[in-house]
Amino acid sequence: MPAHHPIMSRGFLHDLDYSVVQQCMHCGLCLPTCPTYDATQREAASPRGRIALMRAVADNKLEVTRVFGEEMYFCLGCLACETACPAGVDYAHLFDMARAEVERVGVLARPKRNLIRQVTVRWLFLSRGRLRWLGRAMRLYQKSGLQTLARRSGLMRLLPKRLRELEPLTPAISDRFTPLGYQTARAGEGPQRKVGLVAGCVQDIAFADINRDTVEVLEQNGCGVVIPPLQECCGSLHGHNGEWELARALARKNLDAFGAENLDAVIINAAGCGSHIRHYDRLLADDPGYAERARIWSAKVRDISEYLVEIGFRKPTPSSRPTKTRLAYHEACHLVHGQKISRQPRAILASLPDYEIVELPEATWCCGSAGIYNITQPEMSAQLLERKIRHVVSTGATTLATANPGCALQIITGLRLRGMAVRVAHPVTLLAEAYRAEG
Ligand code: SF4
Ligand code: SF4
Repeated sequence: MPAHHPIMSRGFLHDLDYSVVQQCMHCGLCLPTCPTYDATQREAASPRGRIALMRAVADNKLEVTRVFGEEMYFCLGCLACETACPAGVDYAHLFDMARAEVERVGVLARPKRNLIRQVTVRWLFLSRGRLRWLGRAMRLYQKSGLQTLARRSGLMRLLPKRLRELEPLTPAISDRFTPLGYQTARAGEGPQRKVGLVAGCVQDIAFADINRDTVEVLEQNGCGVVIPPLQECCGSLHGHNGEWELARALARKNLDAFGAENLDAVIINAAGCGSHIRHYDRLLADDPGYAERARIWSAKVRDISEYLVEIGFRKPTPSSRPTKTRLAYHEACHLVHGQKISRQPRAILASLPDYEIVELPEATWCCGSAGIYNITQPEMSAQLLERKIRHVVSTGATTLATANPGCALQIITGLRLRGMAVRVAHPVTLLAEAYRAEG
């Protein structure tokens, strides 16, 4: 038996506080909210079933096998089950620990999988410099016309099937990345509040305008903004994919970069990242050098919509436009389920003078993006995307708001493949535009 065998040495699920492992009372109320259970009707693909498997591992009644690993990676991590659960099961933590255990034991290890993880999770996403370098290369490919040429000429057909399927998912790269090092100029007595902005990684290279809009809206509401230049990826990709130590290393770098002790709030506009960075306190609880700073950080993290509502954001002045644009809102899982934030982005959208809000059916149902799920589980992801697009189309909306770059990319791809002209925008972008329209 290898030295890392779970029966012989303690693992991530074994080390969990046992109260977390035994919270589930098997009532099954979460089952109808789970997209993978809905699609398969298999107990093992339900939250209750997965928790039972995790508990069996923690109790040393079950070995971590390949089947266990695949089940944990079939889970979207959408956390709809957490919202539904009356017992307050901390599924997010169980899920992270289960995947960390799968990686520790190595039951899914295969040369191709190892190589992809090595290049992406363990190399590319550990350095903003590398991500930006890739972003610049992709921007050149897109802006030079090479991408259009490759798509039209049929060159894509020469790519291996998997790469061909992934190509439409590549995001349009921003003309300018986030202005790292930015600081609001002091004017008069200076702003009332000082906040730090998390630039994100995908957000930084593919949706940098959302970061600019966030700064603009915060400044319009009396905040001084800093974008600490040495910040790195928040580590959510690592935390959700079994790389616990890398997630901890990135959290430490961000704590050093921000100095949250001197800020009123740490602002994040990407739901997936927000749901992860709120838990830096738990991530570093046993690190004597960082535990206290992580606790301060976690107490100051705010999603942009949450913060704007908290400080009483200024509503844009009424517009003279005779017609309103139909707007639907897709609630990103890691905002509504991961952070229980739903009222606040809706309050921002309701304040927009030029939009009429129409309710999106199943607005809180996962779109299938789920971090890198659309890459690792393309079939299930495509089913969920199809369902989401059907609902978007049913509303007749021409703008869809959502607050997560992963959801935005996924839904933009789905709309493009269907030839639908629906704009996808972050609520803060729509608010920034409404302020600008005031003149
Ligand atoms: S996180 Fe989502 S996919 Fe996973 S068990 Fe919970 S509801 Fe199901
Ligand atoms: S996770 Fe919660 S809702 Fe689901 S079976 Fe357990 S106690 Fe019930």
